[in-house]
Amino acid sequence: MNKTTDFYPTKYWHLLDDGRVQCDVCPRFCKLHEGQQGLCFVRGRHGDQIRLTSYGRSSGFCIDPIEKKPLNHFLPGTPVLSFGTAGCNLACKFCQNWDMSKSREMDTLADEASPLKLARVAHELGCRSMAYTYNDPVIFMEYAMDVAIACREYGIKSVAVTAGYMSDEPRREFFSYMDAANVDLKAFSEAFYWKICGGHLQPVLDTLIYLKRETQVWFEITTLLIPGENDSDPELEALTQWVVENLGPEVPIHFTAFHPDWKMLNHSPTPLSTLIRARRIAIKNGIRYAYTGNMHDEKGGSTYCHQCGQLLIGRDWYTLGVWNLTADGFCNACGTACAGVFEAKPGTWGARRRPVRLRQYAD
Ligand code: SF4
Repeated sequence: MNKTTDFYPTKYWHLLDDGRVQCDVCPRFCKLHEGQQGLCFVRGRHGDQIRLTSYGRSSGFCIDPIEKKPLNHFLPGTPVLSFGTAGCNLACKFCQNWDMSKSREMDTLADEASPLKLARVAHELGCRSMAYTYNDPVIFMEYAMDVAIACREYGIKSVAVTAGYMSDEPRREFFSYMDAANVDLKAFSEAFYWKICGGHLQPVLDTLIYLKRETQVWFEITTLLIPGENDSDPELEALTQWVVENLGPEVPIHFTAFHPDWKMLNHSPTPLSTLIRARRIAIKNGIRYAYTGNMHDEKGGSTYCHQCGQLLIGRDWYTLGVWNLTADGFCNACGTACAGVFEAKPGTWGARRRPVRLRQYAD
């Protein structure tokens, strides 16, 4: 079978007594008749199986700074080859990537790329990691895992940018191939997840706890703050206290700014003061590395030693400045470890964003 063009067989599904087939990848558990697609649009029933229709096809490739994922404690300053496919298993009304995640046109999947070719091109371009992003890799997990396997041959790391909305068994398999992740914790209320995203909060918390307790995956959290929806002091207090109690103080959190998009055009953009307030609450509750994002704020985008307050990594948007870490990742003022995956020197990719056309490279 040509895996890059045919519908790809999957394994997390089962037949129901009423003749439908249930997909078990995420807590939506879509129950499908012949020919139907799941809510994510890229997994559908073909015969008595669930197949993935986006295997080997991408909506585009781009080299980004790793800080853009955002990951501030994973190989800082290095370039990451980023790609996504189409569809999503949540239905967030504020989606900031809706042209891809809500795409019902497979034509948007312009670039065909086998895992081997992708890994080779990433290596040729000097990328240190591959990011499964733009839309959620949970729904194209078979493709992402095969790319991750190919990348390992070249020493290229794999980064999942995900909402973490996933069932137990697929979660275990998927993250066994990942080296790092940024997990969207969209809010800290079931009402928000249900009303605004069409999902539930608990499976996301389960993913975070799983990553912390049962894997070596380096992960950071992002919460997009939407005025009036998930930015109240009590919610931010509860969210950050939960993180410290359940994941520990060393998991970085990024509070990022919303801009009106998709079905939430009547909300105002997030002011910087909200991001600064959220960061202050996080630090007060014991989070060691809290960041502001999507807005210019050098202070809120930089990394400080939690012990002595020394500026460890200065950031101006995605450009690194001051570097006060020792070669093995300790504060060079007081010797306290900074949590994360660091090398002796930071990368020098800077803030560049470079689109990549896969078809220009040999198969
Ligand atoms: S992965 Fe897609 S098809 Fe499967 S349960 Fe989730 S939304 Fe439905």
